[in-house]
Amino acid sequence: MSDSSLRLVWVYPDLLSTYGDQGNALVVERRARQRGLNVERVDVRSDQPVPTSGDIYLIGGGEDRPQRLAAERLRRDGGLSRAASNGAIIFSVCAGYQILGHEFVNDLGAREPGLGLLDVTTVPGQGERCVGDVLADIDPRLNLPQLTGFENHQGITHLGPTARPFARTVFGNGNGTGDGTEGAYNETVFGTYMHGPVMARNPQIADLLLKLALDVNALPPTDDRWYEALRAERIASATHPA
Ligand code: GLN
Repeated sequence: MSDSSLRLVWVYPDLLSTYGDQGNALVVERRARQRGLNVERVDVRSDQPVPTSGDIYLIGGGEDRPQRLAAERLRRDGGLSRAASNGAIIFSVCAGYQILGHEFVNDLGAREPGLGLLDVTTVPGQGERCVGDVLADIDPRLNLPQLTGFENHQGITHLGPTARPFARTVFGNGNGTGDGTEGAYNETVFGTYMHGPVMARNPQIADLLLKLALDVNALPPTDDRWYEALRAERIASATHPA
């Protein structure tokens, strides 16, 4: 962290914020404040430069056309890539996840370069869209409880050798590759297909980002009863769909 306040950057809320993904910024911000941290939250619209001095960057999902525009602007701007090379923590959802990879197929059917911050490549799925509640076991190295989320995507994301699967699905599709993987991560960059918003359903992921940004092993406990109630409801719905 640069000084005593944590800089949280929410990237392109005007293009990438489907299914309440902005809730991720609210949850990370709130959980940081509950630990007595000073948080400076910066919402960066797509016509503004992405600051390079953030500690944590969040990027959400979006429809196919806004996704192409976001990829074009992020490539041209270069701020998010520079932040990544400075060691910033980046967490991305769905379209945002696809943009952080090497490439995806855009709304015009053309191969669109991503930022290459994650060793993943996305192609359009030939079957039905992946839609519905997901339950998955997060990579045990991350020491997090089960992942609950909602997916809605056509893209199928293949992982290269330097990307680790973020989770293994128990229910749902995740990356859509049929191998049970969901999302991807490396030391500082994370991607998932999970909306929900995913931080509201899995507040320990917000805490993981805070710990990585602060370079600490633990954070003071919080009252998580509300989150636990939401988790229980959504996990029941994934395991016993209506
Ligand atoms: N357009 C992408 C897809 O369908 C991402 C969708 C999303 O972010 N919900 O694969």
